[in-house]
Amino acid sequence: MVKTPAARKILHEVLSLPTAPFVEGHVIDYIRSFAAERPRLKLRADAVGNLLLHYKRGAARVARPVCLTAHLDHPGFVAEGMIGSGPAGRSVSRRERGVAAKGSHRFHLRAVWRGGVLPEFFVGSGVRFYSGGRWVRGRVLSTVVVKKGLRKVVKSATIEVAAEVEVGSPGMWDLPDPRVRNGRIYARATDDLAGAAAMLACADALDRVRPSGEAYFLFTRAEEVGFIGAIAACGLKTVPRKCLVVAVENSSELPNAKMGDGPILRVGDRASTYFSPATAFTGRVAEALAKSKRGFVFQRKLMDGGTCESSAFCALGYEATGVCVALGNYHNMNKRTSRIGPEYIDLKDFSRLTDWFYALATTKLRYTGRDENLQALLGKLQKEYGPLLRRSVPT
Ligand SMILES: [Zn+2]
Repeated sequence: MVKTPAARKILHEVLSLPTAPFVEGHVIDYIRSFAAERPRLKLRADAVGNLLLHYKRGAARVARPVCLTAHLDHPGFVAEGMIGSGPAGRSVSRRERGVAAKGSHRFHLRAVWRGGVLPEFFVGSGVRFYSGGRWVRGRVLSTVVVKKGLRKVVKSATIEVAAEVEVGSPGMWDLPDPRVRNGRIYARATDDLAGAAAMLACADALDRVRPSGEAYFLFTRAEEVGFIGAIAACGLKTVPRKCLVVAVENSSELPNAKMGDGPILRVGDRASTYFSPATAFTGRVAEALAKSKRGFVFQRKLMDGGTCESSAFCALGYEATGVCVALGNYHNMNKRTSRIGPEYIDLKDFSRLTDWFYALATTKLRYTGRDENLQALLGKLQKEYGPLLRRSVPT
């Protein structure tokens, strides 16, 4: 099964990486070197840069293997260019000086913003850009806000930075590297890097233990602006059509879906309900795991706070469902303090998620596209009460 120290190491490493929509290169590089160190896992990229990792072992044919999928981006900035050519004048206090940036001047940077964060969280908030192999710190001076339907959204920002930033660098909120406190991990981005890390932890365990089974792992780009990578993956048939697709997300904790109560089998989201036999099968694997593994628990919920890739996979021809872990400070918005904060998840939920993935990859149960349990139940009920129903037709 999945070993906790190995899974935690992967989680820490992945949660430390810089990423933003359309600028997922650092996470992609990490996955490439992860696969290079494990040559028995097969990795390929599709035409738009989504990555597909494949594990297969054993003679038993898995007609419809699972494909787990997570996205590699997180709401963030992309550096567009420096404004003017020189320092912007004001000197940098010692406290404000960048993680790596030296120098006593401030520069102004223009950056585009992509992803769902409310406009009131921007001005004055600290940010950091990963440029030239180091973090450069800054602060949002102003934003350009546009109307999108009924909502106001940030399009771009002017940012005061401690050093020049290369065009195309990803920018994130200025939050520390992952920290563990009271059984929770706090990070710049757990959505959806923790999902990707859970998949890698599962692939790592499969590669080490070499059980018989099969699984695909799809890592998609640019989800935060509307699952653009996933839509392209469907069009390109990056994932074999026969697969049962299980999209993995981090979703805002809800009053009836609490952090620490186990990963969540997601029956749907704001846009749609998922393919019911796929949800039922994923649930059956979890139920079997709950019987065999102490401490494994899971929940089954409609998480309708947002829309996730499962809806796109279902609408574009796949038999898909979703799982998620409940997260705090969704999209870095700490609603209590009205300030930017780290996202966080429960570490037990994370380990249970990796165990669930491992079980999906190695289960002896077979996904058929039908819900045999429900069909069997209906058959049994019909057999038991059908004759009575016919005998009791009112005349
Ligand atoms: Zn998100």
